[in-house]
Amino acid sequence: MKVPLITQIQRYSLQDGPGFRTTIFFKGCALHCPWCHNPETQNSEKEFYYYSDKCTNCGRCADVCPTGASTMHIEADNNAVLLLDRSKCVACMNCVDACLSGAREIVGQDLTMDAIIKEAVADRPFFKNSGGGVTISGGDPLLFPQFTLELAKRLKKENLHVGLETSCFPKWEKIQPLLDYIDLFLVDIKSLDPKKHKAAVGWPLEPILKNIKKLIELKANIRIHLPIIPDFNDSRDDFESYANFLGPISDRLNGIDILPYHVYGEGKYRFLGRYDTYKYKGVKALPAEKVKLLAKTLMQAHIKGLSVGGLVGMGNNSETKSVKEVM
Ligand code: SF4
Ligand code: SF4
Repeated sequence: MKVPLITQIQRYSLQDGPGFRTTIFFKGCALHCPWCHNPETQNSEKEFYYYSDKCTNCGRCADVCPTGASTMHIEADNNAVLLLDRSKCVACMNCVDACLSGAREIVGQDLTMDAIIKEAVADRPFFKNSGGGVTISGGDPLLFPQFTLELAKRLKKENLHVGLETSCFPKWEKIQPLLDYIDLFLVDIKSLDPKKHKAAVGWPLEPILKNIKKLIELKANIRIHLPIIPDFNDSRDDFESYANFLGPISDRLNGIDILPYHVYGEGKYRFLGRYDTYKYKGVKALPAEKVKLLAKTLMQAHIKGLSVGGLVGMGNNSETKSVKEVM
């Protein structure tokens, strides 16, 4: 069974399903959305964050680095400074252990399923009072279908509400067994234009839509996320395509969350040493006008259960209010 690394277990989340959620982030995703605000979950390998502002240039990392990825250099003023060349890094993590100033942090923990369950069960009191539960997220958990299935089974055995956040990309045979154990599917639609979809995220749109339709046919509880990205899917045509697709099925959905692009992920690209490849450098958060236009377009198509920002955990009344607030 392919076992994921875990980047984070986030508590008290209000955006990943009803009530307070404990969200488990798997490391690894089949898609590579260039605007991703969780770039640390894109590849499935262990990495480390390097926080240059915390580095004291002590050289301890260079002493333990087996490949010369971390080295010390003497500058003209005789000061020693650290140089990090990630192309030589073999992810041994010696430097993370050696660093005493917190300038390096491992991204991707080996956690057993038992350890994950233990953490989730410890939050039961918060779930009880808020109607919450556990959400399996990522990355994309369906890159690890068997592990996801086993985890969902174990969480259901603990009588917990289980959400699954996924792009719905794999073959239906990998999704179907989850139907008995997932209380809420949270599925992204990034674009309804097949060419744009494939070009941007590296995966065809059609199998994803097919899987969404099958989930609906089989009466799975499903909530659609619409990430709205500047100059990618924020045109009037894009919004109308969402209205046309979602209008006829919205009665059979748990709801639809408009997720406006934001810039919170930018620092992570820097800390991972991937800032050069980040295509959304300096792109500003989505203007409120765009969000209003999309909300209006969807409301005119009589689409119900809308929220902005994925405020699923706030309950239906607040969701409706949140849409009205942006109008
Ligand atoms: S993780 Fe990379 S930079 Fe750190 S010690 Fe190992 S090889 Fe060197
Ligand atoms: S061990 Fe930490 S503080 Fe010292 S040079 Fe390396 S990254 Fe900087």
